[in-house]
Amino acid sequence: MLYWFFNYVIIYSISLYATIYIAEKGNQPVPNVYQLYKLQQLDSRIDAVRRRLKEIAANLVETQALKTAKAEFAAAEASLNQARADAVDLDLEVKGLQQKIAKHEKRLYSGSISNPKEAASLQQEIASTKRWLAKREEDLLEAMIAQEDAETQLAEKEKTLADIRRRWETEQSDLLAEKKTLEAELAQLTADRQQQAGFIERATLSQYETLRQKKGGVAVTGVKDDTCVSCGVMLSQRMLQAAEDDSTLCYCEGCGRILFIL
Ligand SMILES: [Zn+2]
Repeated sequence: MLYWFFNYVIIYSISLYATIYIAEKGNQPVPNVYQLYKLQQLDSRIDAVRRRLKEIAANLVETQALKTAKAEFAAAEASLNQARADAVDLDLEVKGLQQKIAKHEKRLYSGSISNPKEAASLQQEIASTKRWLAKREEDLLEAMIAQEDAETQLAEKEKTLADIRRRWETEQSDLLAEKKTLEAELAQLTADRQQQAGFIERATLSQYETLRQKKGGVAVTGVKDDTCVSCGVMLSQRMLQAAEDDSTLCYCEGCGRILFIL
């Protein structure tokens, strides 16, 4: 009984193996150019999306225009602060000189000075202080005008900065929205790509990958009006006929890419 059981198992195993073997031989995997072309389309789109995402990443920073506007605003602010400080200093100096003159004049006219030499010297000092005061009053006036100019300048720079910042913020939010959309698309494309690669037998896939690296990312090219879409070469009739067969890889006579008749 046991003998027959083992016999049966052995015979069954042999026949199963033979079936699998014949099936494999009969279904020798062949290249499928259409599937390869679909893979190429996915890869090309993935490359384009990745390139754009890189560009976006590089642009998600402050632009030169914004940096310049910020620097100019800061410089205008510093100028105004300096102009204000200058005006305050001059104002204090003018007030000090006025007080000094008033004090000297009070003393001079109080009648407390009996020495004529001393009175003459004091008069001289009052006169020279008044001359200096006149000069400093002029300087103060100029400083006040400079302060007003600096205020106008600052207001202009502030407006320019606000305009540029608003534009920049809009661009940034557009870029961020695009980035989000592209990232979602890339995730979908990656999944589709993986699935599509599964339809292609390993040897063909590896040929495709090698060619793609050599040919700037494009291994499979379309053929339209008997012409290679990638390099523009007109293909021979013999080549076109060969390329009609979906199970054979035909290479463009111009650029060496795999041909797919569109
Ligand atoms: Zn070509």
